[in-house]
Parts: sequence; structure tokens; C-alpha cells
Amino acid sequence: MQNYVFVIDQNKTPLNPIRPKRARQLLTQGKAAVFRLYPFTIILKREIKDAKVHPITVKIDPGSKYTGFALLDGNKVIWLGELQHRGQEIKLKMEKRCAVRRGRRNRNTRYRQPRFLNRKRSSGCLPPSLQHRLLTVETWLMKFIRFTPVKEVVIEKVKFDMQRMQNPDIDNDEYQQGTLYGYTVREYLLEKWGRKCTYCSKSNVPLQIEHIKPKSKGGTNRISNLCLACSKCNQKKGNKNIEEFLLNKPRLLEKIKKQLKVRLTDAAVVNTTRNAIVKMAEFLGVNGIKIKVSDGAQTVDNRCRLKLPKQHSIDAACTGEVDKLEFMTAQALLIKSTGQTTKRMCRMDSNGFPCSKPRQKYKHSWNTGDIGRTIKDGITYVGKIVVQNEKRFEIRIGKQRIGNTYDKLTRLHKNDCYQYSFSPIYSVL
Ligand SMILES: [Zn+2]
Repeated sequence: MQNYVFVIDQNKTPLNPIRPKRARQLLTQGKAAVFRLYPFTIILKREIKDAKVHPITVKIDPGSKYTGFALLDGNKVIWLGELQHRGQEIKLKMEKRCAVRRGRRNRNTRYRQPRFLNRKRSSGCLPPSLQHRLLTVETWLMKFIRFTPVKEVVIEKVKFDMQRMQNPDIDNDEYQQGTLYGYTVREYLLEKWGRKCTYCSKSNVPLQIEHIKPKSKGGTNRISNLCLACSKCNQKKGNKNIEEFLLNKPRLLEKIKKQLKVRLTDAAVVNTTRNAIVKMAEFLGVNGIKIKVSDGAQTVDNRCRLKLPKQHSIDAACTGEVDKLEFMTAQALLIKSTGQTTKRMCRMDSNGFPCSKPRQKYKHSWNTGDIGRTIKDGITYVGKIVVQNEKRFEIRIGKQRIGNTYDKLTRLHKNDCYQYSFSPIYSVL
């Protein structure tokens, strides 16, 4: 079971995605041609007037390292994808650049006055590593809108829904005692107490939910009476009151009491990037696309109820209100952002001396990273090409290097700064 194939007609109007088998038929019959390799899209050779399309829902689960995408046609999951971000890589690269610039200034222009001090960030701007996350998600959402009749976008906006926590009567017992409650409370406490032990500030240890006023002394299960503690502190505190337990640490006691009164507002727990993604989608969706937001607790609840494995794309399919899911595909397209080519003008050896000719522009339109097909000695090779000079290129497959001239090369996919592969088939589906 593979992802459905996107279809557009002669005028590039998006039609409903079809099964890979049907796409193969259309291609062999000559009724369609390949329009794009990733995501696989075919273009029909005729116009379809007043096509009856059924609306497609795009579901997005934005994460810090991976963002999951799922396309649904009603209950049917027809397309899965996982986008791998490069936020950390961008951060490291910028730090490196910063160091180089600082070094250069120290060496060469030490006594020069600073030119101006008006470098300000505009309010609401994201750091580059987060901005990249927003932009790549935008790119892919735009691709879906271009190739499929999208009518609805569901985005997981928050980890937990504050409104549902403050009015626990929205849902009944299940919400207060079920898995949803446990997950939501934990996430809330982690956020409130800064993901560390309240008493000893240790992080990266298993944390237990702790009653500040012990239950044996009439403390309640209310969220305002809970905090997080490592097992050591939890045991040490036992059923002591907090004043008694922190007798020797009046400062910490004061701090904790202050933090106790803090009520997390909605805005405080909404991740800035997720917020920006929702805003971006709302902006894109002006032309009749409905935008819905949901919370992480609902996703986890849906996934557990339907007994699905934890994968970013499957999480995406589980966001929002889900009754049941029918998986028509069990394999996700893995999309890895690789960034653009380097800005370096020529290569350096290990001592920092230039060891190649300066980069030059060629007359042909090929770029390193394009995917092409070539035939050499009767064998067909498909892969990423490396531009070598005006006449020749190379395809590298493992250690094998296949060089050829451009007239024997067919372009399959232009380099778009993503690396594509397919996930193993999720057998549980
Ligand atoms: Zn502790």
C-alpha cells in the first residue's frame, strides 16, 4: 500500500488523488504524463470540465525535528509524509559564521568604530532556525493546495487545551480520569515547573507528580496543588507540609509559593512556531479553505484508541476529531531538508588554502543535486547528478561514479533542497 498519486488536468486544476495502479494505467495508455516526481504527480492530457471532486483534508502535526503530514479523503488516509527539519544545523552554521566574523574583526579592523547601532529585530520575527520550520511547512502546504482539492486544514496547535482544563465538565468522567487527563496534567505541570524537579531543580530525571499539601493532610488532586519532583525528593518529602520540608530553604519556599500562584495562560504554552504556522495557514486559506486547530492530548487519545504506532505522519492523521481511520497507504514519503548549496566560492584544503578553481556559471541549466537518468553501455542509471563542467556530469551511486555528457541525460527532478526516500511499510496498519 503506497501513497496515492496526485493528479492535475491539462489546465493544472487539481483533481482527486488516485491509486498508484490507476496512475500506471493512465501513463501506459498515454493519457497522462509525469508532472513531478516528488510528490508524485501526473498531468492529464485533456481538460476536465466541472470535475466532481471530493474535498481533501490536510492534517499537520508540527514538531521541532519532524513535521508529519497526512492527507485524508473523509475517513480514508491517502497520503502520508514526514518532513525532517534542519533547525539545529542552521543554528550551528550561524554560530560558526558569527565566530568567523568576530575573528576577522579582531584581526583586521580592531580600531574601527562601529558603524551603526540600529540593528533591531522587528517584533514578532522568528529566529532563522524556527523561521525555516515555518517556511518549509508553508512550502509543502502550498504544494498540497496546488495538486489536490484541499478544503480543510487541521493543525495541532497546542500541547494541551487550557479551556478544557479549566472547565473539566466539558467532557465527563473519561476526561477527568482517562488517559487524556493524565497526559494533559503532566504536560501542563512540565510546562509550569520548567521540566525539572521543583525542590532540587534536577532535570533529565524521571519526574513524579507530587502533592504540595499532602493528601493525608487534606490536600486535593487539583492542579493548583500539584508539582513535579524526582523520586528522591518525593520520598524525602513524604507527607510533610511544604513549610516543614523547606524549613532551611526559605528562599526556595518563597519561589515555589510564587510559582504556585502562576496560572499559565493560553499564550504562554502555545509554541511560537506552531502559532506562526497556524497564522500562515490562515493567510493561505483565504480562498475558501477552512483552518481548524486541535491539541496534542486529542492526538494521543485518538492514536491510543485506534491502536496505531507512533509515527510522525500517523500522529498527523490522528489530529483533530477522528472517529475512525481507514489507511489506504502504509508508507510515508520521507522528506529531509538539506538546505541550498554552499556559498563558498572554491574548495579549501586542510590548511585553508584554495584548492579548486573558483565556482563558475555554466550555460546549461543543470545543477548539482538534480535527479536525472542516463544510459551508459546499455545500462540505465538514475540518481543525483554532480555538475563537473560545461560538457560533463557524474552520477554517484555508492562508490560507483558514472560520468557522461549532458546530451545523454534526461531530467527527472530539479533540485529543490530536499532529499527524498520512503519509510518502511508500517505493518500495523
Ligand atoms: Zn529533586
